Amino acid sequence: MFKLIDLPYSLEALEPVISARTMEFHYGKHHKAYVDNLNNLIKGTEYENLTLEDIIRTSIGTFFHNAGQVLNHNYYFQQFAPANSIKRKEPQGPLAQQIIKQWGSFEAFKEEFVKEGLAVFGSGWVWLDASNDGFLQINQEAGANNPIARGLKPILTFDVWEHAYYLDYQNRRADQLKALWEIVNWEKVEKRY
Ligand code: MN
Repeated sequence: MFKLIDLPYSLEALEPVISARTMEFHYGKHHKAYVDNLNNLIKGTEYENLTLEDIIRTSIGTFFHNAGQVLNHNYYFQQFAPANSIKRKEPQGPLAQQIIKQWGSFEAFKEEFVKEGLAVFGSGWVWLDASNDGFLQINQEAGANNPIARGLKPILTFDVWEHAYYLDYQNRRADQLKALWEIVNWEKVEKRY
C-alpha cells in the first residue's frame, strides 16, 4: 500500500505562485487519485510488494502510468517551500558547479528549462536529471514518464499538465514555469544530485 505523501508546508503556503485552490485539487484530488488507483491496481498482483521505483521499472500501461504519476508528484511537491522561507534562490555546491559547467550560468540554465517545459506537447513534465557520472540533462517527458524509467537520477521537475496551473494561470504555462523558481527549495534539490 502506498500513502499520499505529507506536504512539508500548508496548502496556502505557496501563494501567490501556487494558490491554495490549485493545491486542493492538484495534491488533494489528482495526486491522491493516482495513489488510490495504484493501490487498487496492485492488490493481489506481482506488484503488490514492490517499491514505486520497481513498479516503474518493470511495468507498462496503467500500472506504469499511476506509479509514475505518484512518483512524479512526490518529487514535485517535496521540492517546494514557501517563498519567504527560502534563503537562496539558486543552488550551491556540486549541483551549482555542474550547472555552470554545462550551461554557463544559472540564468541560462533556467531559461533552457522553461523553454523545454513550454515545448512539451500536451500533458507531461520537464525534468533536470543526472546520469551516474553526474552529467546533467534537461528532458521533456510525456504523460507519466520520468527519469527513473530510463535509469537516470531525478533532480528537479516542473509539472506541465494543465491541472498544475490552469486554475491560477489558465493557458499561460510560461507564467507558471517562470514563477515556480520563487518556491524551489534548493537545499532539498541539491541533495538529489
Ligand atoms: Mn500534476
